[in-house]
This record gives sequence, C-alpha cells and structure tokens, in this order.
Amino acid sequence: MAEQYDVEVKLLAITPDAERLIETAGRLCWDTQGKVGTAPDRIQKWLEVGHESMIEHACATFHIRASRVLTHELVRHRLASYSQRSQRYVKENEPRYIEPPELRDNRYAHQEFEAAMKSCWAAYAELLARGTKPEIARYVLPNACETQIICTWNFREIRHIIKLRTSKRALPEIRVVANQIRAIMKDKAPQVFGDL
Ligand SMILES: Cc1cc2nc3c(=O)[nH]c(=O)nc-3n(C[C@H](O)[C@H](O)[C@H](O)COP(=O)(O)OP(=O)(O)OC[C@H]3O[C@@H](n4cnc5c(N)ncnc54)[C@H](O)[C@@H]3O)c2cc1C
Repeated sequence: MAEQYDVEVKLLAITPDAERLIETAGRLCWDTQGKVGTAPDRIQKWLEVGHESMIEHACATFHIRASRVLTHELVRHRLASYSQRSQRYVKENEPRYIEPPELRDNRYAHQEFEAAMKSCWAAYAELLARGTKPEIARYVLPNACETQIICTWNFREIRHIIKLRTSKRALPEIRVVANQIRAIMKDKAPQVFGDL
C-alpha cells in the first residue's frame, strides 16, 4: 500500500565518476592509487569494517515532491543542504496535498480528509482575500500540503538515510521516497550502495 503515495524523486546531479573518486581517496591511505579499478568490491570491504569517510567525497542532489509531513522529517538529517518551496513568498493558491493511501482507500476517512482539505484552503483563500500575508495565512494549511525540496547529501549521509528511512519503523511516505533514492543510488553507484 505504501508505494501508492503520489510522491516524486528525481536525481538532479551526482559527482561525476563518483566511485573512482572514492576509491582514489581510500587508496591514498595505503598509497595504492595505482590499483584503482582493479577490485570491484574494494569500496564495500572498506564499508564493512567501518572505514567510511572516503564516501563523503561524493554527493548527489535530489528534487523531491512530497508532503510537508515528509519534509519535516527529512530535514532532520543535518549533514545536508536544503532548498524548499517557501510558503512565505509563494501563495499556495492551488489545493495540492498528499493523501495517504490509508485514508484514500477508506470511504469514511477519505471523506473526512477531503472535507478538512477543503476547509483549510477555503480559510487560507479567505485570509489572503482579507489582506493577511501568505506567511501568516499559511498557519491554517495542513501538514498534508504538497511541497518541493532540493536536497544535497554526501554518499555517507545517503546510506544513513536509506538505512533509517526504508525501515518498517519509518513513516510510510518517507519509506517510499527512501526506496526510490535507494534504487537510484544502486543504479548510479553500485559499489557503494550495492549492499543496501
Ligand atoms: C523511526 C524513526 C522515528 C523517529 N521519531 C522521532 C521522534 O519521535 N521525535 C524526534 O524528535 N525525532 C524522531 N526521529 C528523528 C531522529 O531522532 C533523527 O533526528 C533523524 O533520524 C536524523 O537522524 P540522525 O540524527 O542519525 O542523523 P543525521 O542528522 O542524518 O546525522 C548523521 C549522523 O551524524 C552524526 N551526527 C550528526 N549530528 C551530530 C551531533 N550534533 N552530535 C553527534 N553526532 C552527530 C550522528 O552519528 C548521526 O547519526 C525519528 C527517526 C526515525 C527514523
């Protein structure tokens, strides 16, 4: 059910030749740079023994469309750079929100949810129409409000986020996003993310 969240994850940028860079940094420690590219499991072996700092040399940038519930949790990851759509400078005129499938697939819950969204956006529009600034009017908007965020993390932090946020204990919506990040990273850097 969780995979039915209407969220989006796009890779915007990634360190070029990231695995070569990481291996070069790791091999510098042993003065074996001449062997870069000769052992495909070299990076995984370092990771297994906790020698992880070299994967911090590579990073990736993602564009994520999801709810404010999700971004509130995501930005707790501190080794990062974030840019998020502003509710101070951008009016949320369109009622865009993320409905959890747990609500959408239950007729009563869905109706309650839809009524709440309608009420929030009606109050928001009324406040704006009466001259309230968007930064104040937004106090009536829901957690479900859709947002967009651009996140840059190094590979070590991405591994950490994947481990924490794909767990069954994590919020279902963030699990969907973390699973998509994992799939992208496994494809782009299998030597670093292959074990996850
Ligand atoms: C299932 C789940 C439930 C959660 N529930 C709650 C909750 O109820 N309430 C709540 O407030 N939060 C909650 N959180 C958020 C959680 O406490 C963390 O704030 C969040 O997961 C960010 O992870 P982090 O602190 O490990 O790592 P990041 O900020 O991603 O940092 C990565 C790592 O760097 C190191 N690090 C970073 N900053 C410091 C520092 N200042 N000092 C020492 N080491 C540092 C740590 O080793 C850390 O693990 C929850 C998270 C999960 C996954």
